[in-house]
Amino acid sequence: MKRAIFPGTFDPFTIGHYSIVNRGLELFDEIVIGIGSNQSKKTLFSVEKRMEMIRQAFENEPRVKIESYNSLTVDFAEKVNARFILRGLRSVGDFEYERTIGDTNHILTGIETVILCTYSTYAHISSTVARDLISYGKDITGFLPPNVKL
Ligand code: ADP
Repeated sequence: MKRAIFPGTFDPFTIGHYSIVNRGLELFDEIVIGIGSNQSKKTLFSVEKRMEMIRQAFENEPRVKIESYNSLTVDFAEKVNARFILRGLRSVGDFEYERTIGDTNHILTGIETVILCTYSTYAHISSTVARDLISYGKDITGFLPPNVKL
């Protein structure tokens, strides 16, 4: 069984994240979405709320599991018996960051990172912009997966 984790902050989980997971399901039998809950990182949405939103998005997809973790990402992968880390790429800016982390994780544990380039329709979608829009009272339905309500 090929299992991958899709780790991230998901504050909030966007349609860009949703697309990466759906495409990942073509490659892996099961994907565990891991909500990193680093204590020092201040988030707009609580872990519980982020979990609920992701649950809504995948309520008809039993191959997607959702967990939160506050350890090193590779330790989380090991804990859930995943041999792959799935990540998404929007831009060259993302690339350098993902490459460094992916290399480090591989050197530490041999785990492989699989990176999918986003479809250009979603390249502008980011949790940061979604949070900014929310702070100005704007509707961000277009940034969210279908069926997800804030
Ligand atoms: P992190 O804090 O780990 O970067 P994020 O929640 O911001 O967590 O992102 C999780 C993963 O999803 C990262 O690999 C990021 O590059 C990817 N991602 C974010 N937005 C998009 C998008 N619009 N399209 C594709 N991938 C995305």
